Amino acid sequence: MRDEQTEVLVVGAGPVGLLTAIVAAEAGLAVKVIDQESRTTARSYACALHPRTLNLLDEMGLAAPMLEQGRKVETVAFYDRESRRAEVKLAGLGGKFPFLLILPQSAFEHALEQRLQKAGVTVEWGHRFADCQDQGDAVTATVEELGGTATGYIVPHWETIVKNRISVRARYVVGADGQRSLVRQRLGIENTRVTGPEYFAAYEFESEGASETEVKVVLDDTTTNVLWPLQGNKCRWTFQLIKAEGLDEFPTKERRSVRFAQQTVDEDIRQHVERVARQRAPWFKANVRAMTWCTDVVFEQRMAKQFGRNRCWLAGDAGHQAGPVGVQSMNVGLSEGAALARNLGKMLRDRAPAGVLETYDRERQQEWQQLLGLKGGLKPRNDTDAWVSQRRSRILPCLPASDADLSRLAAQLRVDI
Ligand SMILES: Cc1cc2nc3c(=O)[nH]c(=O)nc-3n(C[C@H](O)[C@H](O)[C@H](O)COP(=O)(O)OP(=O)(O)OC[C@H]3O[C@@H](n4cnc5c(N)ncnc54)[C@H](O)[C@@H]3O)c2cc1C
Repeated sequence: MRDEQTEVLVVGAGPVGLLTAIVAAEAGLAVKVIDQESRTTARSYACALHPRTLNLLDEMGLAAPMLEQGRKVETVAFYDRESRRAEVKLAGLGGKFPFLLILPQSAFEHALEQRLQKAGVTVEWGHRFADCQDQGDAVTATVEELGGTATGYIVPHWETIVKNRISVRARYVVGADGQRSLVRQRLGIENTRVTGPEYFAAYEFESEGASETEVKVVLDDTTTNVLWPLQGNKCRWTFQLIKAEGLDEFPTKERRSVRFAQQTVDEDIRQHVERVARQRAPWFKANVRAMTWCTDVVFEQRMAKQFGRNRCWLAGDAGHQAGPVGVQSMNVGLSEGAALARNLGKMLRDRAPAGVLETYDRERQQEWQQLLGLKGGLKPRNDTDAWVSQRRSRILPCLPASDADLSRLAAQLRVDI
């Protein structure tokens, strides 16, 4: 077992872990970032950045390169099967970034990793957090360095092996290790389920016809669906599945950027997307052309009972999960990561009292209780449209905002939060 030391050990190099590490490193802290995978994701997953996130990135001097790569969208419209029923305009939020920035998660993670490197920290890919022991003034984490070996003769099989064990002594550990967070599990913190599993299938494709300029959310009687305008003539339909087979757990993110040619299957999928889109959104007239990516994913609304304690703290999906439409989990997770890193800077450099981190926990709890509707959700006014009022608990996770922006967007629908 090798011994290493750092001030902050960040477990997980997803968007939240990367951003946390950048803020901590740029505050002058010694940072180590580990991830069990071999690289950042290759897919577009959470594909929109909220105005609040763009402000945060701007403070870090990171907004401009993201704006160059992304697409600005100012409106989120709500439809029933047949027609448009409501809309929110991000322009109404004012500020420097009154829009959503549509940007594939892969591009976002890549940009964050590059920035982290500039701050002098290289992600240690292929390193898995296994356990940790609180030692009062520090925490000792056991990290496994992973390698691979090919087994099997007729059918080759790639097996992950542990090459080395490293004992990392850190002043603080940040668990940014995603939905199935082992850091959270090792702390024994319950991840409370707020709503049961909801199954979705996402399809990205090139379309022929008028280009989409807004996000369109379709709330029919039983399902929530969303049409995202992506770069150029690309779109993504995310359909809620009425029943899903063989999809029980939140999947791990795909790292391979190559796709194997499979024309027959792609044609079947293409026809399926057109058929489901025409059923659920008859106003969708564009022709679905080449499929570029598809995936199934299950979401549950969840939040951790605590966002950490003593020397181990959680940020991002490790502490919560929301649905796919409002992209709240990743965006709010980014604010959490930045707040946590700043608080760790105060603790380590300015000898701030430990209460700073308890405040972090309290604020996270409050924000997520609001986002997950545990404080009563959206409340109708006297003049709220009946369609909006009936669907208000389904609309809340579809609003691409948090904090004050969430109340402002809700107010446009004449509901309060
Ligand atoms: C198929 C799919 C589709 C999605 N679609 C959407 C969508 O449409 N809208 C939306 O809002 N969100 C979507 N998401 C969710 C979105 O990707 C997450 O909210 C976002 O990635 C959260 O970022 P994070 O940094 O908190 O966690 P993650 O991105 O999950 O990063 C966690 C990192 O920790 C690493 N890790 C885990 N355990 C360990 C360990 N023991 N040791 C070391 N490293 C570890 C993982 O390898 C990973 O890199 C989707 C996710 C998937 C998988």
